[in-house]
Order: sequence, then structure tokens, then C-alpha cells
Amino acid sequence: MELIDKIKILADFAKYDVSCSSSGSDRKNKKGGIGNAAPSGICHSWTPDGRCISLLKILFTNYCIYDCKYCVNRCSNDIPRASFTPEELVNLTINFYRRNYIEGLFLSSAVWVSPDHTMEQLLKSVKKLREEVNFNGYIHLKAIPGANSALIEEAGRYVDRMSVNIELPSINNPPLLREHRLYQADWLLRFYGFTSNEILDDNNPNFDELLDPKSDWALRNLDRFPVEVNKADYYMLLRVPGIGVKSAQRILQTW
Ligand code: SF4
Repeated sequence: MELIDKIKILADFAKYDVSCSSSGSDRKNKKGGIGNAAPSGICHSWTPDGRCISLLKILFTNYCIYDCKYCVNRCSNDIPRASFTPEELVNLTINFYRRNYIEGLFLSSAVWVSPDHTMEQLLKSVKKLREEVNFNGYIHLKAIPGANSALIEEAGRYVDRMSVNIELPSINNPPLLREHRLYQADWLLRFYGFTSNEILDDNNPNFDELLDPKSDWALRNLDRFPVEVNKADYYMLLRVPGIGVKSAQRILQTW
């Protein structure tokens, strides 16, 4: 199959993959590199059918071994199928970037052969982009559910953002509060020094509807409070409900 036909198929079927594309990256280009990632995320816009037009939003493959009834890529669906090689995907990304068509890559995939095999192909692609062609632009990668965690972890070292699709066994939309809590937890992990098992663990497996994750953690760790703000280090200050990054920095500057 010609590359252009693969692009048509795999870009078209990627439009069903919802992305919250970019945040949290602030990386300038480096010597010999190509592209950069801005702190506010890359510029992007959306067509009426939900397609992101400034990221190359594409599937690695739409061949799938599974048959999820709600999904356009299910194996029983009679649709055109295609698959890239890592080399094709890397060349495509770089060529589109050089022509100023895109500012980054949003890469997802159906599950081809097995979750591990698919994750290996995605890992190869992002690794080549970073290490072989020095692509320094924004990459958002979807992890493949069920893949070996070592593969997912390694892929995470090469990308700006990873996410995973979670399909819910209900036709009703999950409450927006759930999404809000997930973003709050994401912020605590990336900027407040929390680890995932401090936010949720086997004894506390769900977010609290009434409390944000930081307040919830504080109430489960009352022995850490009150905090003496004149002596506490930066990361302990960040754990005090109501104190954010800027406030913690200001407190330290007044010492
Ligand atoms: S595994 Fe993913 S891509 Fe495959 S059919 Fe299910 S939802 Fe669709």
C-alpha cells in the first residue's frame, strides 16, 4: 500500500481518539535538534469533526485483535486497514514538521498482534524520533492497555505526555468531576512531588467527591500537620492545602 493511502486511513480513524493534547512541557530546542515544546503546549486547533490539525494525530495501526462493539476499529468491522512501520512514521513526522504542517505528534493505536507487540512498535517510533532524527517537538503518546509496564515506562521517557484510553461499561458520560479529579492528581504528580500511591492506594482506591486529592491526602496524614512554615522545606510547603507553587516559592524567598 502507498504511504499516502496509509496516511488517509490512519489519520481518518484517529479522529475518534479524543486528545487533551498538551500541557506541562517547557523544552527549548537543543543543538542539532528539531522543534521545541512550549510551556502552554503547542498551538493547536480543531476541525468541526474533532480532528486536531496542528498535531499529526494518527494511529500507528487500525488493525485490531479485539472486537469492542462500540469501536470503529473492531476486528469484525469491514473497514480499510493499514499499518505503519516505525521508520515510516518517523519520516512522516519529520517531513510534516519541516514543511510546517504540524508542531508535534499525537500517536495512538489499535491493538495489533498483542498489546506488547503494539507497545513495542510505538516505543520504537518515539525512540527513533528522539534519538535518531533528534525530533524535539511535542509528542503525546497513548499507552496500550495490557502492555508490559516496563515498555510503557520506557516509552514515557521519550514523550511529553502519555495517556491511556479507558472505556466505561456505560452509555452515560462519566461525571465531569471525575475528569477534574484526575487532572488535579496529574498536577500533584508532576509539580507537587507526590507519588501515585500517596494519592490512591489499595486502602483508598477512589477519589473523594467532596475533597480535592491534596486535601484528601492531608486529612489522611494529620500527623504531618500543622506545618511550621518557617522551617518546612519546599515540598512540605507544597503539601499544605491552599499553598501552591508560587506561594511556596514566595514563602521560601522571605526566609
Ligand atoms: S482494543 Fe481499542 S482499538 Fe481495538 S476494538 Fe477495542 S477499543 Fe477499538
